[in-house]
Amino acid sequence: MRCVVANWKMNLSFEEARTFCEDFLGHVSLGAGTEAGIAPPYTMLHLVSDLVRPKGLHVFGQNGHAEPKGAFTGEVSMPQLRDAGCSGVLLGHSERRQLFGETDAALIKKVKAAWQWDLLPLLCIGETLEQRDAGQTLDVLGQQLAILGETGPGPLWVAYEPVWAIGTGRRAEAPQVAEAHAFIRATLNRYFAGTEYQVPILYGGSVTPETFTELLGIPEVAGGLVGGASLDPAKFAALVKQAG
Ligand code: PEP
Repeated sequence: MRCVVANWKMNLSFEEARTFCEDFLGHVSLGAGTEAGIAPPYTMLHLVSDLVRPKGLHVFGQNGHAEPKGAFTGEVSMPQLRDAGCSGVLLGHSERRQLFGETDAALIKKVKAAWQWDLLPLLCIGETLEQRDAGQTLDVLGQQLAILGETGPGPLWVAYEPVWAIGTGRRAEAPQVAEAHAFIRATLNRYFAGTEYQVPILYGGSVTPETFTELLGIPEVAGGLVGGASLDPAKFAALVKQAG
């Protein structure tokens, strides 16, 4: 299975989102075995869901609170994401970890809450440049995946996103991606031992249509989580086509 997910972050207006979806759907056809999704800002979830879910695409929240409701001003819960038309939720994006203090302890609760509300978690992991330079990449990935020891196995996609490659135009080199993905697969095999479920491992970090085909040729790269290039409907459609 190949998977391509657009992370719009805090971009686009309501009308721009509508135009994007109409344009994108005019360009794209999902190949058998390809799954695609869009993670829009909360204000556009309903709109995007109404437009793209009938065409077989996923809609992801960009975050979700672990509690189903309550006094958590500014937060959105998993059942509210479902209510808005989501089938999944991004969890642990490096911007959430770095800018908003997302912790692994919180992520354990969020993954469990996503499963409780029948949402597919797309768990993002990745090392900073300092950690890579210090030779700590695999340790960091192992630590971030250790939350699965607490949650147990379940439906999950994982995105390997080296923090230094996100939004920088500096994509990780093929051997770096290959090493990280092989390590993630071996680690997931431990946490999912005894289950049939094969977690797709996406790469994220400055993916473009020019670089995606090479990335898809790397063992254990099942697709991409795409920020910047996903804001252009023709580019995102090209990425989905390459995955098919
Ligand atoms: C991301 O936001 O997850 C991402 C990978 O962004 P970009 O493609 O812009 O590097």
